[in-house]
Amino acid sequence: MPIYEYRCKRCKNGFEALVRSAREESLVECPHCEQGEIERVLSSFSVTSSGGTSSSGASCRPKPGGFR
Ligand SMILES: [Zn+2]
Repeated sequence: MPIYEYRCKRCKNGFEALVRSAREESLVECPHCEQGEIERVLSSFSVTSSGGTSSSGASCRPKPGGFR
């Protein structure tokens, strides 16, 4: 499923949303302040989860969006 990571421009709240189409993306709003002023956060977690290459030394990097 295409789950994207977003961040609210107002309260800086990070959240994830399931978006199946571009039209559905326009309906995504912040669950905290219920505003549509959001921006998509480009993270690489979906790439690493589907790749299955865990032999690299980048295993100790923080979770995207979880540190702010
Ligand atoms: Zn918000």
